[in-house]
Amino acid sequence: DMAFSEAVAKAGGEKINVCFQCGTCTASCPVNRVNENYNPRLILRTASLGLTKRVLPSDLIWLCAVCYSCTERCPRNVRPTEVIRAIRNLAVKRGYVHPFFKMQAGAIVNFGRIYEEEEFINEMRADMGLPSIPPVNLEEVTKVLQRTKVKELLAAEKEGSGT
Ligand code: SF4
Repeated sequence: DMAFSEAVAKAGGEKINVCFQCGTCTASCPVNRVNENYNPRLILRTASLGLTKRVLPSDLIWLCAVCYSCTERCPRNVRPTEVIRAIRNLAVKRGYVHPFFKMQAGAIVNFGRIYEEEEFINEMRADMGLPSIPPVNLEEVTKVLQRTKVKELLAAEKEGSGT
């Protein structure tokens, strides 16, 4: 898909095509240290070549911890963190969301936070001298979710799944 790198650029990864594949991002990446399959240089290359069938369904794009180490060190100021964020956003729009993120987003829809508040959490906090977790204004959260169309994005069909 030769239009894909342009789509990534428009989605916030403007500098995708100035990457000269030095690998500094991968060498700086703390996630790569624990999982060598996570390789930001390769993700950028694959995306710039428009190999969407490799990039979009891949679990690897979801491993970026958004630490910005690569962005600090990239000699071409590619801002790989932003490029990978743009790729993730395009993946979501095309129906590819990692199940873990779906689960977390579902919790935000239901509880207004990424986990259900359980009494034992506040009891543990009290034991440690910490205040209780403040209540969530679910109405406000719901408004944000409606404006950002999160539910629709999560329900998007995978490209080519034919509905
Ligand atoms: Fe490309 Fe920058 Fe990564 Fe080098 S550090 S491979 S120029 S994104």
